[in-house]
Amino acid sequence: MSLPARVYLNGEFMLPSSARISVFDRGFVFGDGVYEVIPVYGGRPFRLAHHLQRLDASLAAIRISNPMTPREWENIFLELAGECGPIDQSIYLEVTRGVAPRDHAFPAGVTPTVFAYAQPLTYPAIDQVQEGVRAITVPDIRWSRCDIKAIALLANVLMRQNAVEHGCTEAILVRDDRVTEGSASNIFIVSGGVLSTPSKGPFILPGITRDLVIELSHANEIPCVEKEIHKSELFSADEVWMTSSTKEILSIVRIDDRRIGTGRPGPMHARLQALYQDYKHAFRRGGAE
Ligand code: PMP
Repeated sequence: MSLPARVYLNGEFMLPSSARISVFDRGFVFGDGVYEVIPVYGGRPFRLAHHLQRLDASLAAIRISNPMTPREWENIFLELAGECGPIDQSIYLEVTRGVAPRDHAFPAGVTPTVFAYAQPLTYPAIDQVQEGVRAITVPDIRWSRCDIKAIALLANVLMRQNAVEHGCTEAILVRDDRVTEGSASNIFIVSGGVLSTPSKGPFILPGITRDLVIELSHANEIPCVEKEIHKSELFSADEVWMTSSTKEILSIVRIDDRRIGTGRPGPMHARLQALYQDYKHAFRRGGAE
């Protein structure tokens, strides 16, 4: 993956090689910041209002006031995405508390650092979509504010690395015997024709893809509930999925080396996948949001 042609940093568009931030930036020193990842289809940021709402919630939770209006954010994204042409892309944006001498408590009068870039979207490999992927379960070693999209991702990095070292695509996180989410995704199970996903709360990130899957299932009269999911329910489920903006909806067909359902992506996955792709196509043509 090559570097983007231009990035946005603190009010300016520039070459990545010209972008500089201070070693005293609190994002660098403390991981004191938040981020978003937004897909861009047909030149339009997908589910933009939802991503900006989640950004607002993350910023409010760490008490940084949003340095931009929604229109200003959108203009930055369109400018960045315009660089790469009409291909599918993803925008990464990060806001940190800014630059100050190192001290844990909030410094007075600092200006947040704002960084963003666009890059071509890397979709999961076609065989991952068609055959499904493997996962392991791991103890959820994160803190109690996983609803904040914080840039401090060390626990997620360690858990994902554990999955990769076991030949798996994702780590499914388990706290007090309940599934929370994936290291960088939300989790759904299908049992007896009913879709379930863990309820929102402090232990999961409210995924934009998760919300869209719930919305599409409701709109199409597919039963879908938000509830606690015990670890054992993963193994008795007919289907297990992971969802995220960049992976979309991937079937998980083996967990901890045990087969899930038939060991192949199931019929409900095919149904939601089709609904999701239709929604995206409508969006590309200028409809939906
Ligand atoms: N949970 C975590 C921990 C994540 O990092 C992500 C992806 N950023 C998700 C869930 C999925 O969120 P979204 O659908 O908004 O990409």
